[in-house]
Amino acid sequence: MKMKIQTLGILGGGQLGRMSALAAARLGINTIILCPEKGCPASLISTNFICADYEDKQALQELSDQCDVITYEFENIPLKTIEFLQKSKPVYPDHRLLEISQNRLKEKQFLNDIGIKTAPWAPCYKPEDIKVTLEKWQTQKCIIKTTRFGYDGKGQVFHRDNSNIMESWNSLETDEAVIEGVMDFDYEISVIVARDIKGTVKTYPIGINEHKNHILWKTTAPANIGEKIQSSASKLAYKVAEEIELVGVLTLELFVMKDGSLIANEIAPRTHNSGHWTIEACHASQFENHVRAVCGLPLGSTDAFAKAEMINLVGDDVNDIPMYLEQDNAHIHLYGKTESRKGRKMGHVTLIKKF
Ligand code: AMP
Repeated sequence: MKMKIQTLGILGGGQLGRMSALAAARLGINTIILCPEKGCPASLISTNFICADYEDKQALQELSDQCDVITYEFENIPLKTIEFLQKSKPVYPDHRLLEISQNRLKEKQFLNDIGIKTAPWAPCYKPEDIKVTLEKWQTQKCIIKTTRFGYDGKGQVFHRDNSNIMESWNSLETDEAVIEGVMDFDYEISVIVARDIKGTVKTYPIGINEHKNHILWKTTAPANIGEKIQSSASKLAYKVAEEIELVGVLTLELFVMKDGSLIANEIAPRTHNSGHWTIEACHASQFENHVRAVCGLPLGSTDAFAKAEMINLVGDDVNDIPMYLEQDNAHIHLYGKTESRKGRKMGHVTLIKKF
């Protein structure tokens, strides 16, 4: 059998690209990474690497010429780049998903339009909007997030009873934000969903996520959350995947409220940190299924055959590696980043337990 897709182009060179490239290699698919950062994690293990800016048309053309299909591993790729590449090669997921997930206002509107609940929200273009919204909601606190480029708690401010509106607004250094009601949730989960070119949709068992300093610290999966929450959450992710006609993998982050109801927080148009556990505990990992989907192959099973606890190694946590090397059930992943900095994801460890 000759594989139709022999080379996959990936925009972005971080750890998600690296783990996708490793999954592709197992399927006999070559990868070319395009990323502006020399020595980025994915470039170290890919078949080829183009070190260029995402808006460098000559480099993009070079990428397109060398591969059969293109994907991306993070959401801040300029839309223009995807539109340019789509003229010559298929790019999955489609730019519509990227457009929605690049802007929190569009994302919330999309979720609400398809019947998925979010925290109450209002657009914010000036400090006055915060005042008006708080009065309308009859509350003194809210979370204000920049519409674009926010991650790991960056680009957001918790506005409390005694906060100054002007200071909260100025701290964001933006001209467009979203004001969100503060959700008193019980815990946070994420659903990873894959959809192939023929429209087959599969969701992974759900993971419970715990954060430290706004950065994902631990995911426990499959989460012991009961059949009802599991099935409602999966249905929501399924719905997003269908509506968007996804080809690839996306992640829906949800808050589980104390009454068991679900509130969508955000959509990641890609594989996700909370899905790293699927590498060791599921038949086909999130990375393998993403590669399979974008390369026109059928999805593998998303079933888990073991329990997993994924722990991120952030900054100096990487010094714990000797301890994990002694542990029989620890699966260590290091991303090849030479310099450890505060808040930088250096790797992760997945601890596996039998069901
Ligand atoms: P985000 O950047 O939107 O993923 O938010 C980062 C984290 O902030 C989430 O994982 C939550 O723990 C918390 N958070 C975000 N939005 C809200 C909200 N509306 N209410 C309460 N907590 C929130």
